[in-house]
Amino acid sequence: MKALVKRGPGEGLDYADVPLPVPDRHDVLVRVLRTGICGTDLHIFEGNAWAARTVSTPRVIGHEFVGEIVEVGAGVGGLLPGQLVSAEGHLTCNSCVNCRADRKHLCRAAEGLGVQRDGAFAEYLALPAESVWVHRPGVPLDVAAMFDAFGNAVHVADTFPLRDRTVLVTGAGPIGAMATAVAAHRGARLIAVSDLSPSRLQLARRAGAHLTVQAGQEPLEAAALGQEQGFDVGFEMSGNPSAQSDLIAAMAHGGRIAVLGLPDEEVPTDWSDISLRMLTIQGISGRKVFDTWHTMNTLLDEGLDLSFAVTDHFDARDWEKAFATAAQGDSGKVILDWAPRD
Ligand code: NAD
Ligand code: ZN
Repeated sequence: MKALVKRGPGEGLDYADVPLPVPDRHDVLVRVLRTGICGTDLHIFEGNAWAARTVSTPRVIGHEFVGEIVEVGAGVGGLLPGQLVSAEGHLTCNSCVNCRADRKHLCRAAEGLGVQRDGAFAEYLALPAESVWVHRPGVPLDVAAMFDAFGNAVHVADTFPLRDRTVLVTGAGPIGAMATAVAAHRGARLIAVSDLSPSRLQLARRAGAHLTVQAGQEPLEAAALGQEQGFDVGFEMSGNPSAQSDLIAAMAHGGRIAVLGLPDEEVPTDWSDISLRMLTIQGISGRKVFDTWHTMNTLLDEGLDLSFAVTDHFDARDWEKAFATAAQGDSGKVILDWAPRD
């Protein structure tokens, strides 16, 4: 089968023939239909310091996918060939304290699909049945392909109550934009979003942002945005150090921040400012397994429309163009098709 493979250190990927994965008795084999390109995949393509440290090679990369089950292992119950599925991309150890207390998103030993285990940028993927999420009929395939990223957005947006609150979002990449859409759906009174890229600010407006701020050109100050008291809730979705400090400065006393963004390096923090203004800063990793996934279904059932978030799709053979588009940082989610679109 064809797959996108990281061979070793340095930049690049290889679109190559690799053996079909063989599912063990607790696995399912999935025919991959569509995959989403995530920042993680771009880092693995670049071969940055994180990737060099973390990705064992050779490795089939990718974790955002939708596909169809084609085979179930002898020890698997409750799953059937033909079901449309995605999966939780953090494969947990099931023996640490958090896993055993059903807080799998806090597993200390989780392995990443497409990072430490062969992933989804391939025609077929074998993975543990317990990680599989079965979609409802009717979910758009492009949305299903990015359920993992949608889950990050929902995990952030549902960390603090939002109804009638003011929300400031730094970073309108695909995940920041989807978190904006969830905040609008949850009834936030005012949502302001900052980004460097005008087209990403447009994405944020399509998601339901009331105000947008072009970072670096316009001030990200609460007063300038008509919020003299500061914002109630912040979502840090950029990983950019100056966005992080601007966000902290723009919060109300007692404000609450959910942080998803991952800076490349350590960022100095003024702890006394956090103490004296009684800010709450909550780190967010992954998705709650599977609470967040159930919430995603509920949001779609309630009519949350994510069609704005997917802006580009490419045949997997054109993966280089797809990666270049995603790396430009102006698009929404970029989808790779591993099977023809009907
Ligand atoms: P992305 O890189 O597509 O989007 C980040 C956005 O931040 C970009 O549009 C960029 O222009 C913007 N940005 C950069 N500097 C800025 C500034 N000073 N002010 C405002 N905006 C600025 O990323 P994404 O896929 O949407 O993911 C969002 C973040 O979440 C990334 O940092 C990613 O690494 C991180 N992430 C974390 C987890 C987790 O489990 N914690 C999971 C997925 C992604
Ligand atoms: Zn664990």
